[in-house]
Amino acid sequence: SPLALAAAQSVLPEIARYPEGSGHQLVARLAALHGIAPECITLGNGSNDVLDLVARVFLTPDHEAVFSQHAFAVYPIVVQAVGARARVAPAGPGYSHDLGAMREQVTADTRVVFVANPNNPTGGWLAAAALEAFITDLPAHVMVVVDEAYFEYVVEADYPDTTQWLARFPNLIVTRTFSKAYGLAGLRVGYAVSHPDVAGLLNRVRQPFNVNLVAQAAALAALDDRAHIAMSVERNREGMRRLLAGFADLGLAWIESVGNFVAVDTGRPGEGVYADLLREGVIVRPVANYAMPNHLRITVGSEEENARCLAALGKVLG
Ligand code: PMP
Repeated sequence: SPLALAAAQSVLPEIARYPEGSGHQLVARLAALHGIAPECITLGNGSNDVLDLVARVFLTPDHEAVFSQHAFAVYPIVVQAVGARARVAPAGPGYSHDLGAMREQVTADTRVVFVANPNNPTGGWLAAAALEAFITDLPAHVMVVVDEAYFEYVVEADYPDTTQWLARFPNLIVTRTFSKAYGLAGLRVGYAVSHPDVAGLLNRVRQPFNVNLVAQAAALAALDDRAHIAMSVERNREGMRRLLAGFADLGLAWIESVGNFVAVDTGRPGEGVYADLLREGVIVRPVANYAMPNHLRITVGSEEENARCLAALGKVLG
């Protein structure tokens, strides 16, 4: 966003000083955006930081966390880091989150359930009714994290904005980020919205100054640049169309994605294709660590990058 860039540059002369420790202005602006109280917000150094705070607040070696097979890799990392146990629910059809299977993994020891909506690296998503029923059915001792890192890209009518569910679910934590459609991945800004009591706990373990001065300024400006968000989303849609057409030409199958990336089945071990693509100067993500050994996750890039990626893929797959 040109507005975010200008804002970041304008505060550079001030970087000898600490940022405002609570991120007061950014918190106020986010609260207004979601129509909630500022006390509901926890800022993170990226939303990964918030996921880590959740694990540190709610999990111990005596507790369990539940998430789906093929879910975002940071969930097992933050759970393991605090010595808690992970219970991984088998996926549903098409690598999807199976909410019934996830519910079955919840025990008296469960304190956190992670739901990625949409999920990375699959790009799959959950509709409002199913997610709402799942959260309603969870025992009160379980916090549910709905990770909406790719929220802005999703246009499906029954995709929920769960920040609007806070009043009904005191055990709900929704995470968002400036890394995707807002285009600020390099600055690391994310946040959670939750019941104020939950945010109070998260903020107690949050490092002061976890969101730096430049990042706070850029995020504030990015929120006001609605034209840039709309452009990001539109370019992503076009780029996705282009990539999928290219995969179809190459005879490759993919998982339907509503994010800014797509997992494509290369029909052979993805690690090898990844290495060959690297030699062509194209970096994609092999996802064998997600139990998807033949898939590569490819992020939608610029028009030129998409074309180059497809050409390289055609070349290395012969
Ligand atoms: N959640 C999901 C599902 C993601 O894919 C990512 C980024 N890879 C994140 C959270 C974290 O992003 P960030 O820390 O940049 O906000």
